[in-house]
Amino acid sequence: MAKPVVAIVGRPNVGKSTIFNRMIGERLAIVEDKPGVTRDRIYGTAEWLDKSFHVIDTGGIEVDGEDEILRSIRVQAELAMDEADVIVFMTDAKAGVTTADQEVAELLYRRTDKPIILAVNKVDNLKRREDIYEFYNLGLGDPIPLSGAHGIGIGDLMEAIVKKFPEKEEEQYDDDVIKIALIGRPNVGKSSLVNAILGEERVIVSDIAGTTRDAIDTPFERDGQRYVIIDTAGMRKRGKVYESTEKYSVMRAMQAIERCDVALIVLNGEQGIVEQDKHIAGYAHEAGKAAVIVVNKWDAVEKDDKTMQRFTNEIRDQFQFMSYAPVAFVSAKTKQRLHKLLPIVQHVAEQHAQRIPTSVLNDVISDAVAVNATPADKGRRLKIQYATQVAVKPPTIVLFVNDPELMHFSYTRYLENRLRAAFQFEGTPLRLLARRKS
Ligand code: GDP
Ligand code: GDP
Repeated sequence: MAKPVVAIVGRPNVGKSTIFNRMIGERLAIVEDKPGVTRDRIYGTAEWLDKSFHVIDTGGIEVDGEDEILRSIRVQAELAMDEADVIVFMTDAKAGVTTADQEVAELLYRRTDKPIILAVNKVDNLKRREDIYEFYNLGLGDPIPLSGAHGIGIGDLMEAIVKKFPEKEEEQYDDDVIKIALIGRPNVGKSSLVNAILGEERVIVSDIAGTTRDAIDTPFERDGQRYVIIDTAGMRKRGKVYESTEKYSVMRAMQAIERCDVALIVLNGEQGIVEQDKHIAGYAHEAGKAAVIVVNKWDAVEKDDKTMQRFTNEIRDQFQFMSYAPVAFVSAKTKQRLHKLLPIVQHVAEQHAQRIPTSVLNDVISDAVAVNATPADKGRRLKIQYATQVAVKPPTIVLFVNDPELMHFSYTRYLENRLRAAFQFEGTPLRLLARRKS
């Protein structure tokens, strides 16, 4: 189930990033008193009552070479209209209704059927409440007064947002369908890989494309296994200005990761590894998805008999948190080694869904403890009473212990290594949780 997406649009300096931070419950971001401050985060998750949703601060999408304010707000509004389920249009009571506000309101009004919520920020005191009436002129309904500075009205805003969410869509794929997401920076070859995979022999593409919200999914079958490549909408070239921005690609990747079982982390073999690749991979890891590191454009790499090993070493060094992920060297262009990719995907998907019987699990844990004693602190030693796997996708194991505080990071790591030695778990993160036995 993908979470609904809410986008905040509006002129610079009306307080979008302040409200964004209030909504996602983080007050750490630095808000400076000058327009166009670079923001680190433009994408976060908010909770309201029992609802969880994504929030995009479109003000943080910087469009290359666009310094004309109105033009960049238009780009941001376009992104909101494409990506969001609900659009929050933010204005500023101190500044009143400006010409730019009117233009954006008109653009939204004309171009989208998506629900729009008009918010008026900087309503810091009762006196300013009177200033909100002129915002009715924008023709977008009742304005919601806010003060990001004082944290006023955030609840009303959240309430108004969740009321506008579309009806929940049920996940439309059976459990045995492997959902694949190709994630990576722009131009690493994601869409080329999708086309190459679908164009392979023995791949039967179904002509019923899924339509979860805007996402266009492609179901197909190979060797009796059903797959679906999800969220290719983000990969299709739609010629939008914002599509080449790094932040947009990260946001897209996060939405795709959420819906997948297996993330193919695509690297550009010609360019090597950059920081952004690691961030994107980090999201897949944190989301608990199975992962395969795919080095694409291998045809374009000048190589000798050690190049592949060197690249693999570099990957292991740079992606230490993901040492479980197999690495595949492919070329979308020449289709080199591409036929090996789906069998790897199938394998890691199985590992991701692997369930270990409790008795076997406890044998491995006891052996591990016998070889390397549990840690102790101030004379108290960690005791592991028993272990049980509580979930799959990813495999999640609860260790019932006398005191979870005694569980060290290094010991968890050790147990994880022993479990991997016994059960493989190739391509999947593992979660080990220490719980006090009650
Ligand atoms: P953005 O460019 O729309 O994201 O705006 P920011 O969140 O960066 O805020 C712009 C400026 O307005 C900053 O100086 C904030 O401190 C200030 N600001 C934000 N919310 C409020 C508010 O509710 N009241 C007042 N008086 N100032 C605010
Ligand atoms: P995306 O933005 O990640 O979807 O990347 P594209 O699939 O649009 O590819 C970006 C560019 O890389 C295009 O010019 C492709 O032709 C090129 N490309 C993609 N895969 C390969 C490959 O395996 N080898 C070579 N040499 N070029 C590739």
